[in-house]
Amino acid sequence: MAMPNPPISAGGIGPALISGCLVGEHAARAALENDTSISNLWQYNLDFNQAYGKRMAGLEVFRIYLQSLNTDILNYGMKTFLTVKEATEITYGRIPKLSLASKFKMVLKGAANINAFSSMLFAINRMKELNEIYEQYPEKPEGGFLPWKKKVQAIIEDAKERFKPNPI
Ligand SMILES: Cc1cc2nc3c(=O)[nH]c(=O)nc-3n(C[C@H](O)[C@H](O)[C@H](O)COP(=O)(O)OP(=O)(O)OC[C@H]3O[C@@H](n4cnc5c(N)ncnc54)[C@H](O)[C@@H]3O)c2cc1C
Repeated sequence: MAMPNPPISAGGIGPALISGCLVGEHAARAALENDTSISNLWQYNLDFNQAYGKRMAGLEVFRIYLQSLNTDILNYGMKTFLTVKEATEITYGRIPKLSLASKFKMVLKGAANINAFSSMLFAINRMKELNEIYEQYPEKPEGGFLPWKKKVQAIIEDAKERFKPNPI
């Protein structure tokens, strides 16, 4: 199952190794227990989420945001909105603690850039929400999974509504 870092690098070898090891462990355990039901294999989801998946959740919102920007704003934003450290944090799925006060002191040139900056703050807040939801990944498949998935989808749909793709 390919599961690359969705928005930023598309690197997928690392997560494929993590996932492959976990799925092997759980498949072997389930076979020995003679129980290959969803319930008995569910722990794989929890383990992968803990090891990698939850850090990718928020990045999906960041991808949607980035794809709404045109090249000029993207170039300007990468130089101006984030420090190198903050941008690196994001690629690892960690949400940087932006110092808003210092950011607001920044001199942003042009209405489009100011709009893109405030959109980035919106995106980062949604990323935090999504990551928090992934911390609550349902412990069992019964009951809790569908409502949980709806919460995830609501945030993704909201981001897509706000950040329309920029036509190339
Ligand atoms: C051009 C390109 C460049 C990339 N560069 C990088 C990079 O620099 N760094 C990085 O980290 N990631 C990179 N990736 C992504 C990375 O290669 C993949 O995310 C990763 O290899 C996925 O590993 P996987 O084991 O999940 O799937 P795969 O490597 O796709 O393995 C799946 C295997 O299952 C086999 N298979 C499929 N169906 C069946 C079937 N029915 N029965 C039996 N076998 C089947 C396939 O033949 C394949 O061998 C790149 C991908 C591409 C395409």
